[in-house]
Amino acid sequence: MQVPFVDLKSQYLSIKADIDNAISRVIEETAFIGGHYVEEFEKSFAELYGVKHCIAVGNGTDSIYVIMKMLGIGPGDEVITVANSWISSSETITQTGARVVFVDIDPIHYTIDEAQLASKITARTKAILPVHLQGQMCEMDKIMSIAQEHNLYVIEDCAQSHFSEYKGKRAGTIGIAGSFSFYPGKNLGAYGDAGCIITNDSDLALRCKMFARHGALKKHQHEMEGINSRLDGLQASILSAKLPYILEWTEKRRQNAKAYSEALQNVGGVIIPTEREHTKHTYHLYVIRSKQRDELQRFLHEKGVETAVHYPTALPNMACYKYLGHTKDDFPIASQYQDEILSLPMYAELTSEQIEYAAQCIMEFVQVYA
Ligand SMILES: *Cc1c(COP(=O)(O)O)cnc(C)c1O
Repeated sequence: MQVPFVDLKSQYLSIKADIDNAISRVIEETAFIGGHYVEEFEKSFAELYGVKHCIAVGNGTDSIYVIMKMLGIGPGDEVITVANSWISSSETITQTGARVVFVDIDPIHYTIDEAQLASKITARTKAILPVHLQGQMCEMDKIMSIAQEHNLYVIEDCAQSHFSEYKGKRAGTIGIAGSFSFYPGKNLGAYGDAGCIITNDSDLALRCKMFARHGALKKHQHEMEGINSRLDGLQASILSAKLPYILEWTEKRRQNAKAYSEALQNVGGVIIPTEREHTKHTYHLYVIRSKQRDELQRFLHEKGVETAVHYPTALPNMACYKYLGHTKDDFPIASQYQDEILSLPMYAELTSEQIEYAAQCIMEFVQVYA
């Protein structure tokens, strides 16, 4: 049996008519950049989230950058984020001119360790950028109360947590703003690069929209210098075509995660994910841990089960952050887990046979090699 790591084709085939119609409408109208398809998507996404504003941008990385820039974060400031994430979370902090300050992950949930936050705050700290990695929500009550105490912005990186919930609130609706990526492999994916910002702050929304469109809300009236980060009509209409299915797909991911966890819960040497209490994890990734990660990954590959590692090098251990002068001992958990984590195939279209097969292969590995 083959179990690919992602399977974008089967999702396309399941809603082929919707997608094909959406694409051909845009082409017929040549509504390639901006226009009503983008506005319609912004409106539907904001409604689905119960927020006042959704600003579509070119990709998820820009969405983080634009928010920080429009909050006035820049040179001389510090922004705190987590040691294990995709580089966009930290790269965008540097792009604003601010300094990145990393915090280790919590050993159970793999998100920013809120217990270590306070010790990283200085007079220069402007914001905290928690990442709801893998679909797992960060401990938002604690993060928000620390932020309030020190007068800091909280910007939620929701690139991996579409429709995740913390105490009934959706990811991206708790801090000042939430940033989303619609990269094809994300839980809600376009057919190219795409992203958006959500916020209830009308002034911030207006400035983000302006900045992402060359600093102009009206043609040729540039009130500031900005950047070019627009969503195109094709991506917007594809995303709109997928929205009616997204909650069902999200639920399917949760069911698939449950099936994996039931099959793997008593397998020695394999640690399954722990969903934080009072939250809804949406399993962008289903990540297990094993001391023999590399051998397990090779074994699964030979059996036709494709896996991946998110991420093999924790951010502070990357060459690009050498200038911060950290050692692995500064981030012991992230540094240990980078060698143990393994992301199993995870998507709504995964069949129960595929899950069972992948789990059986893991058990076989443990019996023979562990
Ligand atoms: C994918 C991702 C991003 C960036 O999104 P792009 O659309 O690829 O620019 C940011 N943060 C995290 C955690 C991500 O996984």
